[in-house]
Formats: sequence, structure tokens, C-alpha cells
Amino acid sequence: MAVKMIEDSDFIISNEVPGPTKEEIRCLLLCKSEVSSTDIVVDIGCGTGGITVEFAKIAKKVIAIDKNPKAIELTSKNLQKFNLDKKIDLIENDGLSALKSIENIDIAIVGGSGGDLNDILQVVSSKLNPNGRIIVTAILIDTKVQAIAKLKELGHKPKIIEVNISRGKVLERGVMMEALNPISIIYSKI
Ligand code: SAH
Repeated sequence: MAVKMIEDSDFIISNEVPGPTKEEIRCLLLCKSEVSSTDIVVDIGCGTGGITVEFAKIAKKVIAIDKNPKAIELTSKNLQKFNLDKKIDLIENDGLSALKSIENIDIAIVGGSGGDLNDILQVVSSKLNPNGRIIVTAILIDTKVQAIAKLKELGHKPKIIEVNISRGKVLERGVMMEALNPISIIYSKI
């Protein structure tokens, strides 16, 4: 199977919904999660659907959750655009409430938690299958620190990478690098 990422500009976007997660970050998430065709993935805070769409290409099933109805609508549109709407459950709810009815998680991605991060990690951790993986994407320093501390408290050994990507802009006089916002990926395998 050829590995091909979707370019950021190919997603349908809205100024009311964050995302998509940048292409290079989506690429890292696919590798670091070791997602395969047998995995059930939960994307908590699916936003534009950037991560949901990429994982839907490979996973057995993706459950995408967002508390913002506009995010669910947008994720649905993007899934349709890329013909990936078959193996998806879209849930409009806050992550913590939605997780109550979800069992059997192979990969949990937390891309938005709005103050519920500790509780979300606690619940997700208790529902992970053997060999399950938790991934937090964090742009706030506070989220990074909190995710690391909570995962350690839950007995995980989180790995942390801070990703600083710059993309080259080709000008007449040379190539100028333009930096994207740094993002941390905090991940743990059980
Ligand atoms: N990874 C996404 C972008 C995520 S932006 C992409 O690639 O497109 C973060 C999202 O998390 C926002 O849409 C926000 O509404 C959602 N969010 C924040 N707190 C949440 C919570 N407690 N439960 C569910 N969704 C939440």
C-alpha cells in the first residue's frame, strides 16, 4: 500500500473549527501509533477531521468525538470528500460523556479536552485493549505538563516529542523557511 498524506489545503475548513492538524504531524501520528487494519481508534476532539480522516484510511474503525456540532459536521464533510465515511462513528458530545459507552479501544487520540484531560486519560487508560496506545497532541505548555504527569500517575511511561516543522517557500532569490507552531506529541503504549 502506498503511503500518501492528504495536504492541509485539501481539507474543507471553517474558521469556527480548529484544524486540520498539519500534514507532517498527521504523518508522525500514524507512525508513532503503529495503526493497523485491526485497530479501533477513538479521536477525542476531532475538529476538522484531519486525524480522523488519516486513521480512517488504515484502521478497522474510527470513533470521532467532538463537543462542537460544527466540528462533527465538518469532519463528516471531510470523510465524505475522501470517501472514508463507511467505518466511522461520529459522536457529538464531550469526550468524557461519550467515552462512557465506548469499550474496546486500541488507540485513543486526545486532540481536545477542554479542562477534562485528567479524567479523559483516566477513563481511556482503563478501557484500552492489551497493546493499546494513548496519544495526546498538545499546543499548550499546560496541557503538555498535565498529560505527562497524569500518564505517569496512571502507570504509563510516556514518550514526549516536541515537533518544530518549517516549510520552505521558494522565492526568486532563494528558499525561505516558514515555521509552523510547535506541537508536542505525548504517547504511551501499554
Ligand atoms: N485534530 C483535529 C483538530 C482538533 S482541535 C484536526 O486534525 O482537525 C480540538 C477540538 O477539540 C475542537 O474541535 C474542540 O471543540 C474539541 N474539544 C475540546 N474539548 C473537548 C471535550 N472535552 N470533548 C470533546 N471535544 C472537545
